[in-house]
Amino acid sequence: MSPLTHRCRTREEWLRHLRRPSTRVRLRALPGSTWGAGAGSGGRPLRVIISGGGPGGLALACGLASTQGLDVLILEGRPYERPGAKNRGRSHTIGLGRRAREALIQLGGEELWQEMAAAGVMAEGFTLHLNGVPLSLPPPEGEPVVLLDRGRIVSSLRDRLASMEFAEGTDVRIDYGTKVKSVDVVHRTVTVQRQSGTEQEEELIEYDLLIGSDGVRSRVREAMNSQLPPGRFESELRVMPGRWQVLHLDLPEHLNERGVHAMVSSEAPFGLFCIPDAAGPHCVIVSWSSDDAPEELLEAQTPEMLEAVLLRYFPQLGKIPREAAESFLAAKPSKAVVSRCRPLHDADHALCVLGDAAHAVGGGSLGQGCSAALQDAAALATCLQEGARLRQALLGPMARSAPFEEWSQGREEALVSSIAAFSEQRADEGWALLDLIELQSAAEVRASALVQGPLVFGFFLEQLGRGTLKPLADIGGRLLEDRLQRNQQSSAEEVNQFVTHLQFKPTMKFSPGVLVFLLEQAVLELWKFILDLFSRLQPPMQTALMATDESYAQLVGRNQTWLALLRSARAAAGVTRISCVRSLHAFTNLQEEESALWAQNFTVQERLQDDVLLRQSSPVNQQCFFGIRTGTCKVYRGGEEVATLEAGDCFGEASLVLGVPSPVTVKAASDVTLLVMKGEAFCSLMARAEPELRKALEVAAERYGASFDEVVAEQEQGRQRVRRLLETVVSAEDAHGNSHQHHSAVDLDHLLGTVGIESYSNGDLVALGCQRLRVLEQGNCKVVRGGRQVRSLEAGDFFGPDLAADERVVACSDEVRVCSFTNEGQTSIGFLLNSRTKVLLALALSENAARHVPFAFPLWQGQLASCALPEASKLWAGFSILQLATVWTKEPAQQSVRSRCAPNCPRVCKNYLQ
Ligand SMILES: Cc1cc2nc3c(=O)[nH]c(=O)nc-3n(C[C@H](O)[C@H](O)[C@H](O)COP(=O)(O)OP(=O)(O)OC[C@H]3O[C@@H](n4cnc5c(N)ncnc54)[C@H](O)[C@@H]3O)c2cc1C
Repeated sequence: MSPLTHRCRTREEWLRHLRRPSTRVRLRALPGSTWGAGAGSGGRPLRVIISGGGPGGLALACGLASTQGLDVLILEGRPYERPGAKNRGRSHTIGLGRRAREALIQLGGEELWQEMAAAGVMAEGFTLHLNGVPLSLPPPEGEPVVLLDRGRIVSSLRDRLASMEFAEGTDVRIDYGTKVKSVDVVHRTVTVQRQSGTEQEEELIEYDLLIGSDGVRSRVREAMNSQLPPGRFESELRVMPGRWQVLHLDLPEHLNERGVHAMVSSEAPFGLFCIPDAAGPHCVIVSWSSDDAPEELLEAQTPEMLEAVLLRYFPQLGKIPREAAESFLAAKPSKAVVSRCRPLHDADHALCVLGDAAHAVGGGSLGQGCSAALQDAAALATCLQEGARLRQALLGPMARSAPFEEWSQGREEALVSSIAAFSEQRADEGWALLDLIELQSAAEVRASALVQGPLVFGFFLEQLGRGTLKPLADIGGRLLEDRLQRNQQSSAEEVNQFVTHLQFKPTMKFSPGVLVFLLEQAVLELWKFILDLFSRLQPPMQTALMATDESYAQLVGRNQTWLALLRSARAAAGVTRISCVRSLHAFTNLQEEESALWAQNFTVQERLQDDVLLRQSSPVNQQCFFGIRTGTCKVYRGGEEVATLEAGDCFGEASLVLGVPSPVTVKAASDVTLLVMKGEAFCSLMARAEPELRKALEVAAERYGASFDEVVAEQEQGRQRVRRLLETVVSAEDAHGNSHQHHSAVDLDHLLGTVGIESYSNGDLVALGCQRLRVLEQGNCKVVRGGRQVRSLEAGDFFGPDLAADERVVACSDEVRVCSFTNEGQTSIGFLLNSRTKVLLALALSENAARHVPFAFPLWQGQLASCALPEASKLWAGFSILQLATVWTKEPAQQSVRSRCAPNCPRVCKNYLQ
């Protein structure tokens, strides 16, 4: 037993211990309860580890207190802290509604709920400050919501735990400052890490049942994801674009201090959500979209700067106290992360997850995270408690007299059925939460499409689960009626005159004021009609989640059509399932969060048998990375089949990692489902990935004979060949008789750095339209336009920038090898040759090409330079004749062609010709 362990026998003693920071606290049955049945002659208590002492974990511990024979250990990563001003910077206010109340009463009795209700605030209405104009909504009908600091919820649960009488043989301990570092699901052990002085101490703890209530970045869920066999556990995780940070601050007196205030401004790049707290200042959640980060807010370095930014957009805040501003500046913005998983358990390895570990809703969305965590805890406690077989196994006669093996097996079976029952009860609800978030955002879109602002805010209210559209529509209606009335009054005289006039002398001559009035009235009537309609409609997403008796799964069930639409849109945009990524062999060992990142960038594609998925020699900038989910693919190299790939394999990585044209062609050998990622996204994820992933991808590439080393060597050989070719050109004399021998090998190396070697077979399409510069190194090609051959290309010919948009280059011999230069980077230069005049033209395709051009004078982007080919260079004979070159020789004085879009060479030439 750890020396930190302390045994407390009375509540007071326990509470005293809780006040000591970083203390492992042991709770024992209080005098008066029965002892020892679970640890009777037959066996020992069931060792339950709860990872995470947040609302979910502590609530579960309360619920387990009345179950006999449990040895419960709560491992909480953070050090022990009493809630109070000191640590409020980390906390936020949570709204607890009917669902939370019911769960809390079940877990800790009516007095737990009463205590929390007394410590919290019953929200008195809601005020929306829209561009500084307050719009007040009456308090929602039905059960009031209690607003309470998260820290206070935790301390209430802890206090309740301390005052509870535990069942026979049950023991509960909390280890603060103890992090679950890793979980071995097979051997049922957790490795924990705790700070001991300046050192980090590690300990291995065995368990019979491990419960993950360790929040959205759960270690337990991570272990289930990475260690359970594929297909056993499905999990999704998404980092939302939003960021948020908490500011604790007293609102000015004229704002209702017991009300919730939402402040938005069309000017402000962030919004404020101010929630009252009984214990002190309002909890102000400052939130923004990460796509549109409020730079001035994030760059504020002093309390004065922060105050200036906040008051510029929201002067109604009055003043930002220095202390509040300082703690805001010291903290970092939090990301909104959503996740869900299914099922919530693994029976074989005695694991389950609850609360945010099972289904995080990304902060305040829907205001249901905590309620759902408490409901999970209540359900799991009930399942463990009421599992008749578990009870029998733990406490029945068998537990006392049966041999240990038998007892142990009976208990195992009972445990399995209990956690399976919990999972069945709660998995759908947890899964539905994320669907609700999606539906809600869809609802927002629907609302904004119809009547813009007001209805979006209606849904914003629903997000809190605090109101429905009806009150908003009522307010909107009242406002509009008011406007109508005022309109009527101000224009009454004029309108009356007009109407009188009409009655006696029909005429079309009336003042513009009357016309405006009539128009405005019509528009207002229309708005009123829409708002009335909405208040009557009660669309299915007017959830008021905290008040509704409906299960989340039912709510989602009624919106299946919307969900299906959303899903198909999402499938088109990306896959989020981590299991999809982990099903690829190379990605099996990736950390959960990393897998989620990769998952976000994949899309699913169905392809038919014989579809060419990747072409040998396709340039790297047009490539994707592929993973096979179902079906098989064949790999070809130089026309020959070299490998078969199956589900779990991936391809495309060799050229993306090495930045060279694809070394292989891949064809679907059956209908296939693929995970596809754009090359750009792949490269940026690879740049951040651990070196192990590159190794895993190298192994994957070897499976189809494209070992990275081999591909690199092939490219290097090609590079050398092109080097020799270019050296001949550089040593030539230009039209002015200047020798260019002095150009260093470095210049050439820069140029060659961009070379990629491509291989084609007879009939393959080599290039379509104007593309980057290439040299035909081996074999023959033809340039075709509209089905007719317009010229032929032989070994040594340069082509690419000279092609017209409708021209294509097709390989017309068996082994065609082409070296290509990418137009990006420092060494972008195009060579154009005229066989008649034997002049080599160089066109600078990028701004800084001048540094690497093998000519006497510098080149700017879009400029041309020339040099005559030496007679000896027979190599260059028969090069394609370019119109541009002809022009060049006709007017040698014109030494440059400037263009702002230089890489589009033919266009440059055309302009020049005109
Ligand atoms: C700004 C904001 C507003 C919110 N508003 C509402 C609301 O109005 N209503 C509502 O119902 N919900 C709300 N929520 C959500 C609510 O806070 C969470 O859903 C709830 O706290 C989940 O409880 P939990 O116990 O499952 O997880 P958490 O509260 O995340 O607790 C997990 C605990 O595990 C510990 N832990 C983590 N990793 C480890 C580890 N490796 N080892 C040991 N311990 C670990 C953590 O320190 C933490 O104490 C809000 C959330 C935010 C951020």
